[in-house]
Amino acid sequence: MLAGFPLTEEQQLVADTALAFARDRVAPGAAARDHDGRYPDELLPVMAKLGLFGVKVGADDGGAGADAVSYALAIEAVSRSCAATGVTMAVCNLVADVLAGYGNGEQRARLLAPYLAGQRGAGSFCLSEPHCGSDAAALSTTAVRDGDYFVLNGTKQWVTNGAYAGLHIVFAKTSPEQKSHGISCFVVERGTPGLIVGKTEHKMGLRGSNTTQIVLEDCRVPTANLLGDVDRGYAIALANLDGGRIGIAAQACGIAAAALTEGVRYTRDRKAFGRSLAELQAIQFAVADSAIDVDTARLLTLRAAAAKDAGSPRTARESSMAKLFASEAACRVADRMLQVHGGYGYVEEYAIERLYRDARITRIYEGTSEVQRIVIARETLAG
Ligand SMILES: Cc1cc2nc3c(=O)[nH]c(=O)nc-3n(C[C@H](O)[C@H](O)[C@H](O)COP(=O)(O)OP(=O)(O)OC[C@H]3O[C@@H](n4cnc5c(N)ncnc54)[C@H](O)[C@@H]3O)c2cc1C
Repeated sequence: MLAGFPLTEEQQLVADTALAFARDRVAPGAAARDHDGRYPDELLPVMAKLGLFGVKVGADDGGAGADAVSYALAIEAVSRSCAATGVTMAVCNLVADVLAGYGNGEQRARLLAPYLAGQRGAGSFCLSEPHCGSDAAALSTTAVRDGDYFVLNGTKQWVTNGAYAGLHIVFAKTSPEQKSHGISCFVVERGTPGLIVGKTEHKMGLRGSNTTQIVLEDCRVPTANLLGDVDRGYAIALANLDGGRIGIAAQACGIAAAALTEGVRYTRDRKAFGRSLAELQAIQFAVADSAIDVDTARLLTLRAAAAKDAGSPRTARESSMAKLFASEAACRVADRMLQVHGGYGYVEEYAIERLYRDARITRIYEGTSEVQRIVIARETLAG
């Protein structure tokens, strides 16, 4: 896939599986789903069957048992065809990783196994709230113990897969006087009284993905659905940030690569002043700069994933660099390749219009570009 980054047989197998799924099942409906704002509901069971719901989860728990490099390749492949399906899949994997990493044996058997078998729908990760995203530890949803239950109250904002999730990972304050040391992590199952799917957001891009509020009104969650220890939930959110950032970096790589492919195809076909656009040096420079952006984004993303696979204790710097560079590169490439389309880049008949809109969110979620710069600077200054 990328010169200078040889893949193992297993990584190639996962990449090939995801590429075939993307080509045969995801790509054909991508433009229509975007136009109609339609969620890729019908693709979820196929994803689950192919092991793309829990790529990094061990085979004992029903996952594909692959590594972070394989995961990045799979997210890139799917996002190349449809970034909305890419983020749907990325959040489903994030939920699987949290359950596999922090669920006890009973929870993994009861919740994770059927989820990975495609029997619980999508998963969602409810951290952000209307008043806080970057400063997530300032969340104000509360969880109060009442016998064998915790009673949850609050509103979660920007919940990807919100309306389609069978399992919601919800972060709530169990010790409101503490900030990050007073947060616990719960699994709230679809159908739990008091769990309400709120407003659906109408987005600029990723229109096929689903983004809602999740409202918790005296929502009684059994203590059996607490993940990890009370007041230790924020560590779960932080521990999964690196993996989440690699996933979004990979999504951005997919968008950038698709934009370059669309641009190159167009410049070969379109004529101006008696020559194809591809023969004009100004266009060639846009292609060259974009090719460098795509390869650099991919190398940084695969490096971050490989560092995780190698068990490096601190991969925040690598993950943040990959996420920052790949997301900004995706926006640059989509912008350049829209420009080479001229007026046709501005209408939905050409895929570049969707890619341009889809690219923009990658600079915002899973930590904004500003937050990534803070992390990179902190890690670099710490030596
Ligand atoms: C489509 C979509 C899907 C999402 N999916 C999910 C999801 O599934 N689960 C979930 O929990 N969240 C999700 N999010 C939320 C996302 O992670 C947040 O939007 C993001 O973290 C930014 O938070 P915010 O929107 O509250 O912006 P704010 O934190 O209010 O930031 C506003 C601006 O201020 C800047 N800023 C903030 N603090 C600093 C600082 N210290 N220094 C410099 N600049 C700063 C930010 O970079 C940004 O430019 C999603 C968001 C969107 C739009």
